[in-house]
Amino acid sequence: MQLRFHPYTLQLRHTFTVSTYSRTTTPAMMVEVEEDGIVGYGEAAMPPYLGDTLESATSFLSQTDLSKYEYPAAFDDVLKDIDTIASGNHAAKAAIDIALHDWLGKKGGFAWYQAWGLDPSNTPLTTFTIGIESNNDILRQKVREADTFKVLKVKLGSENDRDIVRTIREVTDKPLRVDVNQGWKKKEKSLEMIEWLSTQGVELVEQPLPKEMIDDQAWLKERSPLPIIADEAVVRLSDIGEAVGIYDGINIKLMKCTGMHEAYKMILLARAFNLRVMLGCMTETSCAISAATQLSPLADYADLDGASLITNDPFVGATIHEGKLIMPAGFGIGVSPKQ
Ligand code: MG
Repeated sequence: MQLRFHPYTLQLRHTFTVSTYSRTTTPAMMVEVEEDGIVGYGEAAMPPYLGDTLESATSFLSQTDLSKYEYPAAFDDVLKDIDTIASGNHAAKAAIDIALHDWLGKKGGFAWYQAWGLDPSNTPLTTFTIGIESNNDILRQKVREADTFKVLKVKLGSENDRDIVRTIREVTDKPLRVDVNQGWKKKEKSLEMIEWLSTQGVELVEQPLPKEMIDDQAWLKERSPLPIIADEAVVRLSDIGEAVGIYDGINIKLMKCTGMHEAYKMILLARAFNLRVMLGCMTETSCAISAATQLSPLADYADLDGASLITNDPFVGATIHEGKLIMPAGFGIGVSPKQ
């Protein structure tokens, strides 16, 4: 099997700003695997804060030799093997995993939701993320632009969290999901905020405290009126055990956990521990979003708006209609390059 890859710059629909830092693009590495005249597509999305870079992905992918596997469709073995090339590189590993899934589905004539026995009409609603915004006029405008989405995700963790929620509530009464990105530092203050948020139509809170504050998080879970979902605290399958009893659920992202194969195993394990499951994403093209959409009927919550944040999506695949994910047609992960 041949492996090809090339960098691709995702153009953001809106400038992404956090305090003094802002960007209008985000790097990605597009991956193709080919055998028997069939091409499988994969993608590594690499927002700067995750540690993966074009250089590290290039180095990792250059060391990956898929031609040495007699049966590359045995991706459980292949992925275990490439995991030993280097630690980290989760996005690059995910790109290979997604491409192998796409290839195998196309080769075998099935889509992954079919292989997993899922009803394609059971895709969840996806949230649309409203980033931290200190200008209330812009904030109201962002909420209006998300008009077709039925549930919004709001980033909190700044000084003016209550103002942000109140401003959004001037414009919409849609259910909100709050992502704090480890931004609160005190458990008592967090509980107070969560109690207030529970009166504001908020459904859940994602990663309120820094992931290292395990005892404080356990304390908070005991008392919180809203479910608390781990994001930064749970990266791969082996992290799930540590979330039990401390969080109510986990946010699984293909770029964190090395792809569809591990994500599927994480969902099963999370269920065994009675954890809720959110499927999340980075800023990504329809390639990685379609891969996640294949799994989405298994999720309680989806946050798969990544492809709607960019203006130069090179693929046709999963779409969003009135806030609901639409399973793409086609085999594999259901994507084809735009003509
Ligand atoms: Mg998050």
